[in-house]
Amino acid sequence: MLFGRRKDVAKRRWRLSAKLLIASSVATVIGFSAICASVMLDMRHGEEELARQTLENLASSIDSEISRNVELYDLSLRAVASSMLLPEIKQVSAPIRHLILFDHAATAKHFGAIQVFDAEGRLIVDASTLDPVPENRADEEYFTVHREAPDTGLFLSRPMLHRGAYAIVLSRRITSADGKFLGVVAGSIRFSYFHDLFARLRLGADDIITVYRRDGTVIMRTPFDLDVIGHNLSQVPGMTQVLGEPSGSYSRPSVVDGVTRLFVWRSSSSPLIVQVGKPWTSILNLWRTEATRIAGIMAALIAFVLGVTLFLAREIGRRARAEERLEELATTDPLTGLKNRRKFDTEIDLEWRRAARSGTPVALLMIDADHFKSYNDTWGHQAGDQVLVGIAICISDSVRRAGDCAARFGGEEFALLLPGLSNVEAFRMAETVRLKVAHWSEDPVSTVSIGVASMIPAASLDWSDLIAAADKALYAAKANGRNQSVLASLPQLALVA
Ligand code: GH3
Ligand code: MG
Ligand code: MG
Repeated sequence: MLFGRRKDVAKRRWRLSAKLLIASSVATVIGFSAICASVMLDMRHGEEELARQTLENLASSIDSEISRNVELYDLSLRAVASSMLLPEIKQVSAPIRHLILFDHAATAKHFGAIQVFDAEGRLIVDASTLDPVPENRADEEYFTVHREAPDTGLFLSRPMLHRGAYAIVLSRRITSADGKFLGVVAGSIRFSYFHDLFARLRLGADDIITVYRRDGTVIMRTPFDLDVIGHNLSQVPGMTQVLGEPSGSYSRPSVVDGVTRLFVWRSSSSPLIVQVGKPWTSILNLWRTEATRIAGIMAALIAFVLGVTLFLAREIGRRARAEERLEELATTDPLTGLKNRRKFDTEIDLEWRRAARSGTPVALLMIDADHFKSYNDTWGHQAGDQVLVGIAICISDSVRRAGDCAARFGGEEFALLLPGLSNVEAFRMAETVRLKVAHWSEDPVSTVSIGVASMIPAASLDWSDLIAAADKALYAAKANGRNQSVLASLPQLALVA
């Protein structure tokens, strides 16, 4: 009796394990994907940080290199400016004056010769020659700025053609002791200085280095672009930050080529700001390759795990169905297709308990073919089998409700379990079955006798009592002449013809 229930539990367990397998695989896949995504994001973050640091270091070293040279050159300009104030300087000869003025002046490949202009802008001294060609620079910005504003200090011009080469001009005012404007001392740093400096660096294809004046004018840039150099970019988005803060970074599409880059800038105390930019595509290039590789491997693993899971789940389902089929075969009578005795025992036990809980009746019909032995003897065993099949069809045709159980009890004996039916209702059902059999069978007419019992399960009763009562009623029907239904009335049997 417990066998069937154990199978039900097993079936449920199969289904549960298929669902559990799918759920655990999906959870594992999600978990691993999350870990992978997190690791990849960390890696990306690491690459970003590394790029930022590298750019900061680069900007910092370029800035200090330029600042040092500007400072050195400025020292020379200051020295010349203060020497020009010496009263003796006008009395000495030109070569001596040269020696005094430019003895300590910084001279290097990329620095232009220092020149001194008087208050009217006339060139009076030129470090490169003792006999300078007369020229007047009174209109140049690097001259006028000092004339107009005594506090200008070191002035850096826009990039310009200066003495035949592109350069920036550095100038300082010469002021007398009483504050009078006496002229300007000017020198230049040629573009070749920046070209040389940038050429020494190993830059990526789309990396940008820009050197700005404090007002946002582009002094120099690599890649070299005359369309940008000399322009004031102070209105470009982000430049307020660059011009206002000593260092920092931002990510933005470049106004020149539209490529989105990470820009880092640095400005020491010098009048210049150095900004370095690297495209995100090259910052994340290695990461992308790695991420694609990992994502590819992950996708393959996920596909494999899900594939195996689906295969196993289908296998579990297939086994569950096979088991169901086996169970069906194990509980069905092969000749009639009705439930077999084993299944009947399970069902009656189940219904008996249920009826005991709900206090409702359980009815049982014991149906037996009349004179079946002699039928077999007369018409043969196979014809007898056909009659048994016919009786089974008549019984199952009469059954309507899901809880009813029609079973072959053994030999030519059938049982019909009818939960919830009272004596009278069960007797009515017995008569239906009996008449159906009599109707169905023609010459020779086969009949059945039926014992009917209905009980409300009580503590003192067992379902075997119900079978015994129905059996007794069946014997009574046989004794009473067959082809009839007899209702067992408890405690004594009542015969209802
Ligand atoms: P009664 O009316 O008293 O029930 O008489 P009966 O001949 O039907 O009863 P009995 O118990 O003497 O004989 C039952 C017969 O049913 C014996 C057996 O040959 C036959 N029988 C049992 N199982 C099968 C079966 O599967 N196929 C066939 N053809 N006959 C069967
Ligand atoms: Mg019989
Ligand atoms: Mg019998």
